[in-house]
Amino acid sequence: MAENDCIFCKIINREIPSDILYEDDDVLVFPDISPVAPVHLLVITRKHIPSLAEMDEADTPLVGKLTKVANQLARDKGLANGYRLTVNSGPDGGQLVPHLHMHLLGGRKLRWEN
Ligand code: 5GP
Ligand code: ZN
Repeated sequence: MAENDCIFCKIINREIPSDILYEDDDVLVFPDISPVAPVHLLVITRKHIPSLAEMDEADTPLVGKLTKVANQLARDKGLANGYRLTVNSGPDGGQLVPHLHMHLLGGRKLRWEN
């Protein structure tokens, strides 16, 4: 289900160009447009889920798959020294795009900011 004004649904539908690094029936991966680390990828669900807080119980395997694919990309990108997976949820969580996505960050020593 695509949402008309959703920027990530437009990337999925190729209405907005992006360098899609991985894609399957459930998940897509592409670089963040404003990277905050040498590796900063977005791992998104193909299904439009507005936020982690709004996932259904039936979406649980999908969220697990985001992690699995992010781990695979981390290996592909050579992040053997570690990396961070982040899901921002809602305004206080810093979520800007209302379509479920996981950030894969790596390639430098990350600080904990809150
Ligand atoms: P959030 O704050 O919702 O967790 O993260 C949204 C991320 O999407 C931000 O890091 C932002 O840089 C990225 N972003 C926003 N618009 C676009 C876009 O059009 N293309 C890509 N590749 N990333 C985007
Ligand atoms: Zn969407």
